[in-house]
Amino acid sequence: MIRIILLGPPGSGKGTQADFLEKKYGFPKISTGDLLRQAVQKKTSLGQKAKVFMDRGDLVSDDIVNDMIKERASQADCRNGYILDGFPRNINQALQLEKIDGVYGEIALDIRLSNQTLIKRLSARRVCSNSTCGATYNLLARYPKSEGLCDACGGKLIQRPDDKPEVIQERLRVYNLQTEPLVDYYKKKRIYHSVDGEGEIETVFKEICAILNRENTGICKAEVV
Ligand code: AMP
Repeated sequence: MIRIILLGPPGSGKGTQADFLEKKYGFPKISTGDLLRQAVQKKTSLGQKAKVFMDRGDLVSDDIVNDMIKERASQADCRNGYILDGFPRNINQALQLEKIDGVYGEIALDIRLSNQTLIKRLSARRVCSNSTCGATYNLLARYPKSEGLCDACGGKLIQRPDDKPEVIQERLRVYNLQTEPLVDYYKKKRIYHSVDGEGEIETVFKEICAILNRENTGICKAEVV
């Protein structure tokens, strides 16, 4: 089983790259942010608890996300591997992840870019409000065909509450404090690779695929297209 860990601050394009990887290799993407947003939309008790933290740009408790990952990664579609988007976000979560058995290949890809670009991107991000769709757009690069509406399902496009300027600053602060230490952690494990995230989405994806090929993770045998 292969585990691809996507690191990178909010706005680095992890989610989009995870979608591309899912399509190319057929491994499911597991996004803790998406799972949490679904719980918020459904107004479950977990969702209501998590919303308070998410809305102010802080991390939700490790217990919540660790359980989510354990549960999701044990499902049948993850049998051959999975792509993690937004998990782990601190050392404790990384340690929990290692308790999930059966993984023989693991690689951490860290999408890096300047704070200036991140803030510009996050401020321009719009998402589909339809919870079963969740498509993402960017008013600077990937804009929808009709203003304010999702190309895929026609749903209304909205700004995520945590993409508001004051919350963006907090999310970047939390990333530097809690998630950045994972760089050294994965360097020590010798599975760390940095990726230049400043370029076009397709260029970044090419770089990621080149790393996966070069590192001989076994993932390329799984290519779907
Ligand atoms: P994301 O969509 O990955 O940017 O996540 C949105 C929000 O969900 C984050 O700002 C956190 O509040 C929460 N979240 C997502 N993943 C995690 C995680 N692994 N640990 C703690 N909180 C998380």
